[in-house]
Order: sequence, then C-alpha cells, then structure tokens
Amino acid sequence: MSESEEAHRERTRRHKAVVDAKIAAATRDKGLLLVLTGNGKGKSSSAFGMVARTLGYGRRAAVFQFIKGTENVGERAFFSTHPDVIWEKCGEGFTWETQDRARDIAAARAGWEKARAALSDPSISLVVLDELTYPITYRYLAVGEIMAAIEARPPMQHVVITGRAADDALIAAADTVSAIRDVKHAFRDGVRAQEGIDR
Ligand code: ATP
Ligand code: MG
Repeated sequence: MSESEEAHRERTRRHKAVVDAKIAAATRDKGLLLVLTGNGKGKSSSAFGMVARTLGYGRRAAVFQFIKGTENVGERAFFSTHPDVIWEKCGEGFTWETQDRARDIAAARAGWEKARAALSDPSISLVVLDELTYPITYRYLAVGEIMAAIEARPPMQHVVITGRAADDALIAAADTVSAIRDVKHAFRDGVRAQEGIDR
C-alpha cells in the first residue's frame, strides 16, 4: 500500500531538515584534491568539465595530459586557445609501454616539471593531471615527489588527477575520490571511439 499524502509530506520534511543541516554545517573553503579513477568511462571528461566550470568564474586552469601517444580530444581543440587555459600534452610522440623505457621516463619527467610549475602558481585555480596514474604505476614518476608538490601547492588551488588504478597514497591524500564502475561500454559492441563522446 502506498503511503498517505500526509506521511509522504512528513518524510520529505524530515529529509529536507537533515540535508539543510548538512549544508549549513559545510562552511569552509579550501583547495581540493580530487581523484577520478576506476575502469568505467567518464574520468577525463569529468575533469575537463571542471575546466569549463572554472573558466565560467573568470579563473585560470591548466591541463597536463600524461597521454600514451598523439591522440586528441575535443576538449583540447576547444579549450587550448582560451586565454585562461594552459594545455600541455606530456609524452606526445612517445609510445608508452614500448621498449624505450628511458625515453618514456624522460617524457614523463618533462611533463611533470611543467605540471609542478603550475602547482606553485597561485594564479591558476585548477590543475588537471590527466592520466597521471599511469606514469606512477609504471614507476616513471615517484608518487612521493608528486604528493609533496601537491601538498605544497597554493591553499585555494584545486587539483584533479584521473586514471585507472590510482595509487593508495593519492586516494589517502584526496578530499574527494570517485571510482567509476564499468557497467557497459559500446566499444565491446564493436563501436569505435565517437567524436564528442569518447574523444
Ligand atoms: P573519457 O575521456 O571519455 O571521460 P576516461 O577518461 O574515463 O574516458 P580512459 O581510460 O582515459 O577513460 O579512456 C579514454 C577512452 O577509452 C575513451 O574513448 C573512452 O570512451 C574509452 N573507454 C573508457 N573506459 C572504457 C571501457 N571500460 N571500455 C572501453 N573503452 C573505454
Ligand atoms: Mg581518461
């Protein structure tokens, strides 16, 4: 039997009171560390969505893509010419997981040095470290060094790290962590990456 109108109103009133109390209790501002991980689709596109949000407030954002090859995404075409965006592809032209480990390490390090500069620039509100989990997993970059730079960043600067299998140290240090679950993906049905959706 469905609940009466009266009972429904009372239940939603109590729920609203709980939510309102939680909203009233959250009064602090701080620069956040977010980790978007898991095997499901939606990590990088979510991070790039936060770039749009940041720009909407007239603030600056920097994106460092620790990518495996030369692949492009639509967000780069859209954002990279924006005057308030720094967009760097780190590792472009290198094929990670190749035999040439020394070159791959050099590419990751060069990218990291650029990212580190952004992490010490208080004029940048949001730093996206896209696919940073991979050079950490491959031990191309030391997680301790990355954590030290993130912890020493300007206090109001937000950082988003994306990539599968995020290191425990990143998850422990993060304020917000989402693990996106892979329920289905069209790729397994033989559909190639679609412009505007997958890249
Ligand atoms: P997106 O950039 O779409 O937000 P993502 O950052 O979560 O995706 P990545 O692991 O970086 O995922 O992979 C990027 C590409 O791989 C995209 O084309 C995406 O659609 C595809 N992809 C992501 N997850 C899966 C999956 N579970 N199976 C197949 N393809 C996937
Ligand atoms: Mg991604």
